[in-house]
Amino acid sequence: MAVTAKMWANSADSHWLEPEDLWRSTLPPALAERMPRSVKDPDGQYETVFIDGLEIRRKLPNPKRTAFMEASNRPKGAHDVAQRLLDNDEEGIWAELVFPSLGMWNSSFRDPALLRAAMKVSNEYAMAEIQGKSPRLQCTAQVSLLDVDDGVAEMRRAAAMGFKAVFMTTKPHPQQRDYNYNDVWEPFWAAAEELGLVLAFHIGTDPFDFTNDEIGIQFRGPGGAILNYTETTYSGQRVATKLVACGALDRHPDLKVLIAEGGSSWIPSLGDRMNEAYRQHAMMVKPTLSRPPKEILYGQVYTSFQHDETATGTMIQFGYDKICWGSDYPHMEGTWGHTQKTLHELFDDVPDAVRRRITRDAYAELFPSVPAPPLSD
Ligand code: MN
Repeated sequence: MAVTAKMWANSADSHWLEPEDLWRSTLPPALAERMPRSVKDPDGQYETVFIDGLEIRRKLPNPKRTAFMEASNRPKGAHDVAQRLLDNDEEGIWAELVFPSLGMWNSSFRDPALLRAAMKVSNEYAMAEIQGKSPRLQCTAQVSLLDVDDGVAEMRRAAAMGFKAVFMTTKPHPQQRDYNYNDVWEPFWAAAEELGLVLAFHIGTDPFDFTNDEIGIQFRGPGGAILNYTETTYSGQRVATKLVACGALDRHPDLKVLIAEGGSSWIPSLGDRMNEAYRQHAMMVKPTLSRPPKEILYGQVYTSFQHDETATGTMIQFGYDKICWGSDYPHMEGTWGHTQKTLHELFDDVPDAVRRRITRDAYAELFPSVPAPPLSD
């Protein structure tokens, strides 16, 4: 392909930003006031985060260092679907799996009834205002991960509405047992498989540590920025390991999982480690699996990356092909403003079959109803 030609790609990792009045305009006031919101002190030094009756005071970073987070630095399409589609045309992004943003707080609610109401409102908004606006946009439904019965009921409603994927946090709520406890989660996995819903885990969505005065900051001192960013990656690897080890994916071979934004090249090495554990510690392994762990990872766990140089080589060298690309639009870790440059750097020098698989076909395997991208210009 000519270096200057537009290369189209599907994105398995994009986001919508919830409108500020989403909760106030839809929920009864008694519920709306408990939804996540932040109020900054007039001097800009501290903010108070309110969420489901919790009040967290946290110091704000120096505004000079966080100017990139201001709304004026975001692409306009973050809040406007028509503009989003124009941005995507410009960038060469065809279909998108669109995750929420405030949904990052989902694992921090304590009241099942509040969470149930919030998920319903979010799903109705996402379907009407985003997915319903273009066949190129697929939204992740949001369901309760605090109460499994609630989660299954909302999954059924969401599937009937037309959702094809469910947004999953990398750990459930702290009050709930972890995903490897089959006695709790089995009905959830069974329902997702039956309904054909992709379980879309986004990295960095472990519940927040409210004992920490700066939410999301785990490491301080030298290297902190890289440590904190890299740390979010492990949450995706952990949840994939759990779902294979506990047998959930083995018992539900049609269940597909996506680990979004966390890269792809870790799958082969993690598979090797899990096979070693399964083989060398066989006398302690429960439950036994019908297939080696690596085969289950390769078969049912899809991944997405934005810039990783190792992703294409992972497919070529190690045969793992459940690899999707993702723009992470409109987040700063993403490729907005340089998508074409990135796609050409990644794919110009690899075989066409590898480019097609990663930029189009792996995504189409997850979401067969999405129209195919145009052939590249
Ligand atoms: Mn993302």
